[in-house]
Amino acid sequence: MQTNGQHKGRVHIGVGGGIAAFKVVQLASSLVKSGYAVHVGMTPSAQAFVGPLSFQAVTGNAVFTSLTDPGQEGDIGHISFAQDCDILVIAPATANLLAKAALGLGDDVVSTAMLAADKPIFFVPAMNTQMWQNPATQNHIETLLSRGHRVLEPASGRLACGAVGAGRLPEPAEIHRALEETLNPNIDLVDLKILVVGGPTREYLDPVRFLSNPSSGKTAFALCHAARDRGAQVRLILGPVPHLDERTAGYRRDVVSAQEMYDAVFEELPQADVVIMCAAVSDWTPSTPLKHKEKKSGDTKSIELKRTHDILHALGHHESRRKYTLVGFAAETENVIENAKQKRVVKHTDLIVANDVSRELGFESDENVITLVAPDGEKVLNQAPKYALAHEILDEVLSLRAGR
Ligand code: C5P
Repeated sequence: MQTNGQHKGRVHIGVGGGIAAFKVVQLASSLVKSGYAVHVGMTPSAQAFVGPLSFQAVTGNAVFTSLTDPGQEGDIGHISFAQDCDILVIAPATANLLAKAALGLGDDVVSTAMLAADKPIFFVPAMNTQMWQNPATQNHIETLLSRGHRVLEPASGRLACGAVGAGRLPEPAEIHRALEETLNPNIDLVDLKILVVGGPTREYLDPVRFLSNPSSGKTAFALCHAARDRGAQVRLILGPVPHLDERTAGYRRDVVSAQEMYDAVFEELPQADVVIMCAAVSDWTPSTPLKHKEKKSGDTKSIELKRTHDILHALGHHESRRKYTLVGFAAETENVIENAKQKRVVKHTDLIVANDVSRELGFESDENVITLVAPDGEKVLNQAPKYALAHEILDEVLSLRAGR
């Protein structure tokens, strides 16, 4: 897929003249929200149903409406509208537009774009049931499929004309999902809601001093990117890391202390299908943190600490435990596998990702060596970048969820 660095990809939508055109505004909006650059072209009759300004408002781009407007056609707009994209979507694809596509007619922005398209087109038909079932329309569909185009089946239900039957435009979320699948054939986590919890925590002794550890959050970032690249909906709860990955800005929640992390996790939990707990949570916090910076005095000093919540343990024993797949991490310096196996049982997780932090790899590095400890055995993985390992962890999660 082509990207310009800022966007996940470019989707161009040719809008036909049907009442379902209004739903395509929602589709354009959800594509923009999920990171696509979206450009829209409209037939004259589509403009009678929805104003181009609606599409301009949700996409942030001027709408292509006329083949004869010198401004729009200055740089041969209909050719770039047809070709400078990862996918050309026709929605609603009316009976008329399907016929034009099959026959090769081009008399407006959308039909000429279909003629000039240099890759398969994604048609989303919507029309009255009789029109859909008409042999002429069905022949055109056959023709388009035989040319390698994709046609999304219309949904059944009550139509605008009052009839009940096949011909409704599928819901925007359904079209969005089908588009993602077409654009990214490797995505297998669509609709899965994954909560990643990463980074260190800080436990303040006074306003300027704290207990913490050198966790970089890199594992959490890698898991987020891998999961999103496979279509998952991701939320990240992150402790204070030295270098923020700003690509996570749209779905990240920053926390500082173990208590804040605990509260955030249990607030987000009801929405999660999978929780991956890779945070390096402090096990201890000062019993009575001081309100003011403490002056130095004496040669020694004792600080009383109390235990923080073990978030993973609490997740493993929560009343809604059966609703999510739970992955924990075990950073060990000895007996790595044995300790990880025990941890999996005690903390009630589905999977433990074990790593030996006595080596150089781990906390701040870009690569890691891990072992996946599952109920039915262990899998030792070779040293690899954290992003590649994140995919292995997600593969394992999928296979556990499928109840292998
Ligand atoms: O028991 P241990 O700290 O070694 O377990 C590590 C796992 O438990 C990691 O997944 C870590 O994120 C989680 N953990 C936690 N809350 C703590 C300490 C660790 O959730 N207070």
